[in-house]
Amino acid sequence: MGLIVQKYGGSSVSDAASIKRVAKRIAEAKRAGDDVVVVVSAMGDTTDELIDLANQITPLPPSREMDILLTAGERISMSLLAMAIANLGVEAQSFTGQQAGVLTDDVHGRARIIDVRASRIRQAIDGGAVAIVAGFQGVNELTNDVTTLGRGGSDTTAVALAAALKADVCEIYTDVDGVFSADPRIVPAARKLDRVTYEEMLDLAASGAKVLVLRCVEYARRNHVPIHVRSSFSGHVGTLVTDEVVEGEDSMEQPIISGVAHDRSEAKITVVGVPDVPGTAAQIFEVVAAADVNIDMIVQNVSAARTGLTDISFTLPAADGQQATEALAAAQESVGFESIQYDDTIGKLSLVGAGMKSHPGVSAKLFGALRDAGINIEMISTSEIRVSVITRSDQLDDAVRAVHTAFGLDSSEGEAVVYGGTGR
Ligand code: ADP
Ligand code: ASP
Ligand code: MG
Repeated sequence: MGLIVQKYGGSSVSDAASIKRVAKRIAEAKRAGDDVVVVVSAMGDTTDELIDLANQITPLPPSREMDILLTAGERISMSLLAMAIANLGVEAQSFTGQQAGVLTDDVHGRARIIDVRASRIRQAIDGGAVAIVAGFQGVNELTNDVTTLGRGGSDTTAVALAAALKADVCEIYTDVDGVFSADPRIVPAARKLDRVTYEEMLDLAASGAKVLVLRCVEYARRNHVPIHVRSSFSGHVGTLVTDEVVEGEDSMEQPIISGVAHDRSEAKITVVGVPDVPGTAAQIFEVVAAADVNIDMIVQNVSAARTGLTDISFTLPAADGQQATEALAAAQESVGFESIQYDDTIGKLSLVGAGMKSHPGVSAKLFGALRDAGINIEMISTSEIRVSVITRSDQLDDAVRAVHTAFGLDSSEGEAVVYGGTGR
């Protein structure tokens, strides 16, 4: 008998009928003899709707209250799911993140898990029940305040519980059949990957492939938790994310390219007319760092404004746009730049693959594919196993399809299925 952690995303529990469908799946797993711990997300787009609601009250809601509000979403789905499972004659108990012993730091809105003390969950499963845990939430031990783990954080809850309980596997159930070579919502010809390494999955997740959230992959790699990403709507085997060698396989296949990821959640700030002297870049990014904003790509160019000046552009999460521009505006005089431009109509495309390290010409082929599709590149950044470019947001889908085709990633086995969700 084993122990399985199963996580069901919002699109898998979007209404009463879906909750009953998922309950059946869970009851079957339990009846097959395994101990089952379930992590559940808020129903459908509940989290987005709660955020919209808060923004109708105030443009900058206090982060502590925001966390209390958002954790309500997962409480609704966890209790309904426990009821649905009980209805099938299988004992089930639901627990908030706090009850499940998910302890975090005190950073509201993107708290980090520092420990999982899952004795209450252990007790429930030892007593024969299925334990249902609200994803995406924890509690700060010092303040006793409820925290959330950042968008998509239920994936992290699931992996953290799997690690704490030493589960055999962490199954992430979602609305597609696994991890694909690109988002199936954009590229119908995307192919399902049977296996990916933690390293590749880290880069895909960091580049915007939201099928798994980045922190969950980091956590899984550090704690050696094998993840199986699969659909809650089909019985198909999904994608295994692990570094372990599977019996019968010599080694992990290392394709040149594992996938094309895209991200529409970033914005670009250009600081125009920066004095071209040592120290100004440091000054600018110290201001941004002090505002607690993470930056992604950076480009410095000769200024369009005047000679002797440079323009510095960088990308950042669009959600932090206001914070960053306000902080920079306050530092305009001391840094001595001319103006700030803000642009949130950009998109980022990333080509990811461990085999890229040893294959020259990957960037050239990428740029060629974008040229042939008539797509302009605004920024470029590269690492050992990733090339990223910034394009106009409305050209991003075409760019992803063009690059996917150019690298021979299109599947010949028919279209990838998207079973549910709104893609929000
Ligand atoms: P859940 O509600 O189950 O957490 P998410 O919406 O967070 O689901 O993640 C699943 C979605 O991730 C898919 O519907 C798909 O649109 C998107 N996605 C982006 N990139 C990929 C990829 N490379 N493979 C699979 N899905 C992807
Ligand atoms: N409900 C949260 C969100 O929408 C957490 C999650 O679904 O993983 O981001
Ligand atoms: Mg998700």
